[in-house]
Amino acid sequence: MLRLFNTLTRKKEIFKPLAKKVVKIYTCGPTVYNRAHIGNLRTYLWEDILKRTLEYLGYKVEHAMNITDVGHLTSDEDTGEDKIELGAKKEGLSPLTLARKYEKKFFQDLKRLNIKKPDKIARATQTVKEQIALIKILEKKGFTYRSRYAIYFDTSKLKDYGKLNPQKDKKELLVGAREEVVIDKEKKNPQDFVLWFFLEGRYKNHILRWPSPWGEGFPGWHIECSAISRKLLGQPFDIHCGGQEHIPIHHTNEIAQSEAAFEKPLALFWIHGEFLMVEGEKMSKSKGNFYTLDDLKKNGFGPLDFRYLTLSTHYQSPLNFTWEGIKSAQNALSNLKKFLKTVEFYPSLSKKKNKLNQYKKMFIKALENNLNTPQALAVLWQLIKDEEINLTEKKKLILDFDKVLGLGLEKEVIFSLPSKIKKMVGQREQLRKNKQFIQADTLRKNIEALGYKIEDTPKGPLISYQK
Ligand SMILES: [Zn+2]
Repeated sequence: MLRLFNTLTRKKEIFKPLAKKVVKIYTCGPTVYNRAHIGNLRTYLWEDILKRTLEYLGYKVEHAMNITDVGHLTSDEDTGEDKIELGAKKEGLSPLTLARKYEKKFFQDLKRLNIKKPDKIARATQTVKEQIALIKILEKKGFTYRSRYAIYFDTSKLKDYGKLNPQKDKKELLVGAREEVVIDKEKKNPQDFVLWFFLEGRYKNHILRWPSPWGEGFPGWHIECSAISRKLLGQPFDIHCGGQEHIPIHHTNEIAQSEAAFEKPLALFWIHGEFLMVEGEKMSKSKGNFYTLDDLKKNGFGPLDFRYLTLSTHYQSPLNFTWEGIKSAQNALSNLKKFLKTVEFYPSLSKKKNKLNQYKKMFIKALENNLNTPQALAVLWQLIKDEEINLTEKKKLILDFDKVLGLGLEKEVIFSLPSKIKKMVGQREQLRKNKQFIQADTLRKNIEALGYKIEDTPKGPLISYQK
């Protein structure tokens, strides 16, 4: 039975989907104004593990994601500039050209990390109609009011506003939000948030703009996720995911809008992952510790080294990124690949079906326990070291595990030697038996020159392909 930590109830719960065999997941997508950094990517990585785990357990997953290309301000609390328009100014591009540029790079990053692409994707700028329709419903039900600058959601009208957020964070939110009251004096409650911005004040020259029943303008950030998730998955759906920084504002407001409008839950499970820190500090451009996959590459690390690194920390624990840490992840992954390229040149052990099943059960149990990937990796290494199971069986099971781990191991594995190499190894064995060690050694060198390393063990030689 799969257990997941649900932020809504603040405990691990048994997961059961609404439909028997289909799981509908919504993950908040990127705001496409710059390259995703490794902290952003960590979130997409554990979300991919969740999706792959559900598939491994036999569910069909319907995964939807939004692309934010308008309305996300530099502060989540409705202040500052639109990130897309600001980025566009900096790069001398139109807002949509900038957005498409970084959207493309985002999907390239996902591909490099072996993250499966969502089944359904929608952009904020292409769902404005749905967002306006949703605001109209909220208006009709009395949840909105108007100021000179915006249409707001009136949080005081919703009885359980903020239920996703533990009490402690709620207080912090109020303090943060209060400072902002200064900006729009007509805002009624500090937590109220914008549904629709007008072309007033700093937004006078906002390039992306649409007509609406309330006047020309552009949508707020939160409303897009409520409108898009409903359009792509319906309401309620099974699981809503995101980084934990979304709990106090973005996800709290998504819940407020969708539940006020339709009087049913938005999602049954809310799952949040922890931050990534760099050398113990919060990542930021000004500190120069803001890394993308290209920065890792410049330092000699591949995207899958980073994927392995994130698997070695539970998604609900902070991950402290260090260069030594990714170096050991790279070593571990390289040892794993070496193992998969090793073939035994001696009669292999008989199959231990029961033992293999035990490992598979242990692997599933680790994942079913709130996606415990460090434990799942420990099971994999324990399997590798188990001397009672033959190499071929181990490799097959590891490829099966990789359906979840996603380390691209299928292209690394070798199950048998090319016949030419096999023959040469056989000849070398014969020479050794005849104590013709000099000739045997020459043959070993020839085999090595073809890329195969020989390790003589008490059972016989192990041959590994060294790519
Ligand atoms: Zn969202």
